[in-house]
Amino acid sequence: MLSPNALRVLDSLGVFQKVRANSYEFDRFIFKNVEGETTDVYYFGSKEQYGYPALRVERKLLLDTLTAMVTERGVEIAYSQGFTRVISESSTDQSVTFELDDGTVRTSSLLVGADGIHSEVRKYIFPDCAPIYSGFTAINCTVPRSALRIPKDYELPATVLGPPGAFLLVPQKPGGTELLIGSQMRMQERTRQGWTALRTNKQGLLDTLNNTKDQWPDIVQSALEAAPVENMGIWPFYTIPALPHWASEASLVVLLGDAAHAVPPTAGQGVNQAFEDAATLAALLVKLSRETTLNKALRWWQSYRQARVDKVLELTRQMNAKRLPASEKAKLPKNMIWSDEGATRGDGRQLAWLYTPDLLQVVDAWISGDK
Ligand SMILES: Cc1cc2nc3c(=O)[nH]c(=O)nc-3n(C[C@H](O)[C@H](O)[C@H](O)COP(=O)(O)OP(=O)(O)OC[C@H]3O[C@@H](n4cnc5c(N)ncnc54)[C@H](O)[C@@H]3O)c2cc1C
Repeated sequence: MLSPNALRVLDSLGVFQKVRANSYEFDRFIFKNVEGETTDVYYFGSKEQYGYPALRVERKLLLDTLTAMVTERGVEIAYSQGFTRVISESSTDQSVTFELDDGTVRTSSLLVGADGIHSEVRKYIFPDCAPIYSGFTAINCTVPRSALRIPKDYELPATVLGPPGAFLLVPQKPGGTELLIGSQMRMQERTRQGWTALRTNKQGLLDTLNNTKDQWPDIVQSALEAAPVENMGIWPFYTIPALPHWASEASLVVLLGDAAHAVPPTAGQGVNQAFEDAATLAALLVKLSRETTLNKALRWWQSYRQARVDKVLELTRQMNAKRLPASEKAKLPKNMIWSDEGATRGDGRQLAWLYTPDLLQVVDAWISGDK
C-alpha cells in the first residue's frame, strides 16, 4: 500500500501514472466491531485532503515499472551479483572499494546499501546489528471478492476488531476483485528453518485462523470458508534497533530503507519511508557543492529522516496496540491505542505531517539555508 507521501515522489518521476490503472485505489481503512458498526476511520490517503489517494499495487508491477524506467535511462542492473563486503574506503580520494559474490571488485564514489532488513552493507558499519522479532506474525491469504458474504453498505478495506484481535479485509487488483485477508497474532520466534516449516504447512496456517472462526462476524467467516489453502502465507514482523548513524565514518557508505530503519508494518509505512529516503538522498546528492559537503549533507539528511521515522514508529505502536486481543487491550492506557479521537484522525488532516510534505522542496530549503 502506497500513501500520498510516496505517491508524490513517484508522481514526480512519472511512475504513479504508469501503475495507477492496474492498482486498487482507496482512501480510508474502516475499523469495524463484530456487530458491523464503524468504530474508527483511518485515512490512508485522500485526494482532497492529502493530494493523492492510497494505492494498493502489486509489488511486481511496481518493480517491473521502475526497472523499465531505470533501464531506459541507461542504468545497469546486475541481478546475478550480490554485495559481500566493503574492502576499503578513502576520504582522501573519495572512493569506496567493495566485493561482489562472484569475486568482482568494484570502486565507486558512493555505496548505497538499499539491501533490506537483513542488509549485508549494514554489517560493515554495524557488524553486531541483527533484526529483532516483534513477537507478532501475520497469517494471510487471498480470496476472490465474489466468494465473500459482504453486508450491504459495508465499506472496505476494513479491520474487524473482535475478541481474538484484528482481522483484515483488504481489496486489491483493479476493481477490488480480490481480497487479502488475515490476522496478526502473538507467536514465538523460530529459526529460519522453523519459519520455513510454518510457511509450508499451509493447512496448519488455515487451521490456526479457523481456531477462532466462531468469534468473528459472518463476513470474516465467509472469508475463511473461501480461503484457498494453497494461498496461505505468513509474515513475521521483524524490526531493527535505532541506528545512531546511517553512514560510515568517511560518509561513502550510506544505508537507506529497511536497511536503516525497518519499521513494523501496522501503519503500512515501510516502503513509503524507503521511497522518502531515496528521493531525498538523490535530491541532496545532485546538489552537493563546496559549501554543502557530503558529510554535512548526510548528517542533516539523517536527522530529518530519523525524526519522521520516529513519528511513524509512534503511530505504528498505537496501531499495533489497536489490533491486540480485546483482553490485552483492556490493560493498556487509552493514549497508547490509536483512535480517531486522537491526534492522528485523518478527516481533519491530522495526518498531514505524514502525507503532505513536498520532500524535494524540503531538501531545496535546507540547501539554500545552508549556503
Ligand atoms: C508481506 C509484506 C507486505 C508489506 N506491505 C507493505 C505495504 O503495504 N506498505 C509499505 O509501505 N510497506 C510494506 N511492507 C514493507 C516493505 O516491503 C519494506 O519496507 C520495503 O520493501 C523496504 O524497501 P527496501 O528497498 O529498503 O528493501 P527491500 O524491498 O527489502 O529490497 C532490498 C533488495 O536488496 C536485495 N539484496 C539483499 N541483499 C543483497 C546483497 N547482498 N547484494 C545485492 N542485493 C541484495 C534484495 O534482493 C532486495 O531486492 C511489506 C512487507 C512485507 C514482507
